[in-house]
Amino acid sequence: MADYVAPLKQMRFTIEHLAEFQHVLALPDYNAVDAEMAAAVLEEAGRFAAGVLAPTNWVGDRKGVQVIDNAVQVPAELTAAYAQFCEAGWPGIASNPEFGGQGLPKTLSIACDEMWAAANVAFALCPELSQGAILALERHATDELKRAYLAKLIGGQWTGTMCLTEPQAGSDLSTLTTRAQPQGDRYLLTGRKIYITWGDHPMTENIVHLVLARLPDAPPGTKGISLFLAPKYKLKADGSPGERNDVFAVSVEHKLGIHASPTAVLAFGDHGGAEGYLIGKANEGLAAMFTMMNYMRLGVGAQGVGLSERAYQQAVGYARERKQGRAPGEKGVVAIIRHPDIRRTLLLMRALTQASRAICYYTASCLDRASHAADAESAATWQGRAELLTPIAKAFPTEVGQEVTSLGIQVHGGMGYVEETGAAQYYRDVRIASIYEGTNAIQAIDLAGRKLLRDGGAVVSAFVSEMRSVDPRLANAGEDLAVVRQALARGLDEVVLCSTHLLTGEKRDPELISAAAFNYLMLLGTVIGGWQLARGALAAGAESGAPGADRTFLDTQVLLAKFYAEQVMPRALAHGAAARAGSASIMALSVEQF
Ligand SMILES: Cc1cc2nc3c(=O)[nH]c(=O)nc-3n(C[C@H](O)[C@H](O)[C@H](O)COP(=O)(O)OP(=O)(O)OC[C@H]3O[C@@H](n4cnc5c(N)ncnc54)[C@H](O)[C@@H]3O)c2cc1C
Repeated sequence: MADYVAPLKQMRFTIEHLAEFQHVLALPDYNAVDAEMAAAVLEEAGRFAAGVLAPTNWVGDRKGVQVIDNAVQVPAELTAAYAQFCEAGWPGIASNPEFGGQGLPKTLSIACDEMWAAANVAFALCPELSQGAILALERHATDELKRAYLAKLIGGQWTGTMCLTEPQAGSDLSTLTTRAQPQGDRYLLTGRKIYITWGDHPMTENIVHLVLARLPDAPPGTKGISLFLAPKYKLKADGSPGERNDVFAVSVEHKLGIHASPTAVLAFGDHGGAEGYLIGKANEGLAAMFTMMNYMRLGVGAQGVGLSERAYQQAVGYARERKQGRAPGEKGVVAIIRHPDIRRTLLLMRALTQASRAICYYTASCLDRASHAADAESAATWQGRAELLTPIAKAFPTEVGQEVTSLGIQVHGGMGYVEETGAAQYYRDVRIASIYEGTNAIQAIDLAGRKLLRDGGAVVSAFVSEMRSVDPRLANAGEDLAVVRQALARGLDEVVLCSTHLLTGEKRDPELISAAAFNYLMLLGTVIGGWQLARGALAAGAESGAPGADRTFLDTQVLLAKFYAEQVMPRALAHGAAARAGSASIMALSVEQF
């Protein structure tokens, strides 16, 4: 099993050139951050991910979790790693300094998220969920609740969960039934939540559940959902955890992957009611929860990137060692990395991973620029782009993650299918990422049905114009980048064609959006990835003449852009054509005919 090495150079390059870090650093709130500090944070995070977290990955997968006496037990290796994670100050790096966070930009912390996921995604889910809960509390909780809970969550002494799903309410939360009965200044919650990630564990002295539930007089559907905070242990007058609250893990799921992450069924109120506190306004809980969900969606995208990177590293290591077959001009049996098909596979893995990384980091940068903008107009512009990109940043890297980790197995041949190489674990672990946090189909419908339609395509159109603006620079680069220029131009034409088709076709074909959404999302993801790699090639070209430039690394960026243009961008046209085909054949069979 290959060791994980954080791809620091690639991450720094992506942050600087493709996530436009200079614009983030220019924001007044980030005065104290500079490129040198960012590089030091990445280096330290890389050391922690590789040295502390990565060694727990395999053992966590083997040992898994269990419920003993209504309490979840996790492997001791993870508990020890979590203690070190908190000691080193990692939980709060991007959180509000007012409550003890370090206030670093998301554009930087997303790279840390990628590294935590690459090292041990089952572990990484725990601090990621806490971060989402912190953000939701910062935005929507009362000052009293913020004072009581934020510092402990930011310090990592307590962790957070997200309790949405119920057996009958998955993608469609309108049918959720968990109840909240007012009781003085608080509420008593009763109901069952399923699939709650890190819903119970012994790693911290308290757990803070953010729970969607209904008030007695709530209207039906999504307009009657409120958000509550329910701690595992109620707080004493001095703020420390005291009496046990009425929320217990009933069982944990046996899953395909992420074995070290407890996925719990939580029973609220089996013994009279779990005490909870309202977050935000009554009946507006779904909107408040979306703060956490959107945060998590980008985080899940970063999981796709991390696991793709890890699978790539593992596959390269194996391909260098494994000898099979002969090759023209070489004596004897060669390492499989010599074969064109293995090279194609490895490059495909690397190019797709880098495209996904660039999409995620750029989305983080849009979020930073939206949340910390100096004026309302630029805040609205960047918010619009971040909202457009969020479903793409969740779904594209997680689709890619499945492909790349599967290719990783393929490079190993039979050894990939055997657990001991570790390649199979990445494939198993990444599979959930296209399901949770809203399945990729739900992301695609959000993109095509809401983000595109709601403004008549204005945000998409502005983004397309910006992506087109690299064309003169690609033209100046001459023959070397001609293939990249042509592929990007064709891809962007397809985005325009397809967007127009969806914007004008809904009346003609009421099922069009839903039928086309997945391919529309993959079209956009593929083209935005191509735009990012093209910009990478331009930045590498500009940098390669500088004294001390790392020519090998920079030339590789140019090569990746060319490879992606030749081998991946044709998929954009196929996705566009499939999206434009409409719903007729998709809807033609009766239910019985399936
Ligand atoms: C390991 C794991 C961890 C999880 N962690 C959490 C957690 O911490 N907190 C939490 O609240 N939940 C969690 N979940 C739940 C997860 O978010 C849901 O499984 C997911 O949202 C899908 O819901 P569902 O399983 O009910 O599938 P369903 O909603 O039943 O969907 C089944 C299929 O139908 C499709 N579908 C559904 N509706 C539509 C539609 N309108 N249009 C097109 N296609 C549609 C879906 O895309 C999917 O392919 C977790 C799940 C797992 C397995």
